[in-house]
Amino acid sequence: VSDFPPAEFLGRLRRAQQGTAERGIDALLVTPGPNLRYLTGYNADTSSERITCLVAPAEGDPLLLVPQLEVALARSTTAGDLGIEIVSWPETEDSIARLVGMLPRSAQRLALDDHMWAVRVLDLRRRLPTTEQVAAGPVISPLRVRKTPAEVEALRRAGAAIDQVHEQVPGFLRPGRTEREVGKDIADAILATGHATVDFVIVGSGPNGASPHAEVSDRVIQPGEPVVVDIGGAMPDGYFSDSTRTYCIGDPPKDFLTYYEVLHEAQLAQCAAARPGITAADLDALGREMISGAGYGPHFIHRTGHGIGLEVHEEPYIVATNPTVLEEGMTFSVEPGIYLDGRHGARIEDILVCSEQGDDRCNLRPRELAIV
Ligand code: ZN
Ligand code: ZN
Repeated sequence: VSDFPPAEFLGRLRRAQQGTAERGIDALLVTPGPNLRYLTGYNADTSSERITCLVAPAEGDPLLLVPQLEVALARSTTAGDLGIEIVSWPETEDSIARLVGMLPRSAQRLALDDHMWAVRVLDLRRRLPTTEQVAAGPVISPLRVRKTPAEVEALRRAGAAIDQVHEQVPGFLRPGRTEREVGKDIADAILATGHATVDFVIVGSGPNGASPHAEVSDRVIQPGEPVVVDIGGAMPDGYFSDSTRTYCIGDPPKDFLTYYEVLHEAQLAQCAAARPGITAADLDALGREMISGAGYGPHFIHRTGHGIGLEVHEEPYIVATNPTVLEEGMTFSVEPGIYLDGRHGARIEDILVCSEQGDDRCNLRPRELAIV
């Protein structure tokens, strides 16, 4: 399922072929996974032992190699509307030989999908011992990291859908229920609001809230406890949602309120600063300095955020070690947290679009502590 017209994919393919040519690469080979979906709209099975591979030469028309029994399936997706030739390989044929035959004559350098199975890479190396193999990441990542307007709209739709789930969370969070019971209601709501998949549901009550990647447990939620709720999934077009809000069952502990305010201010400041020109490292430092200045530095134990699109975690990573200058159209989470080990924790997470005005969020639910 795709909400994008063929022209969107044809533009991506053209830019990928340009990037291939600019790097002196003869062809780009893309196997099932987010890159294939990005370039063709075909969400092929990543776990199939039968080879599916897009061959995008530096010059000339792209070709898509597909197992014969999946040709009808491939044609039924956007990939069938792009005017690219679908080459079918019959079940008993040597599929790698067929793939080699689709490459430009005397290709010297091939860019292979970062997700290509090692056995295929090795097969290709055996068949083409003098051909250089390089990673396709440097060709495709610069395209994927800057979203097109259609992709930004897709992320806004995903954000609006997960916002609708957070709107319902206070109704699910009742003292006496377990995290798992609440998580089940949340998962149902994620699907009911238009997502195709539920990818993660974190309901971290009390001390579990201090463990950033806790999921759900059979722990019974108690009155007076903060609860970190971090949820997301993929929409039918493949774009992800990811948003965290922290709730409290009745009156929060005093020390919790103190650090929640610090966190809230840091997250606001980071969202406002998310404009073209700032580096990922500086955006991370901005929030970290505010949290450290209030004495909670050692309790902010993860990076500020991650890029998001067809993968829930992708470039750019908003982390102290990343000197990347953020550009218009990049999309990423801003999700600082403060965690008091063994007691409780808090995180606030929104997906941001890097744009001149700053503070351009896909998630619009209030960020003040929600007392339920
Ligand atoms: Zn999250
Ligand atoms: Zn996240």
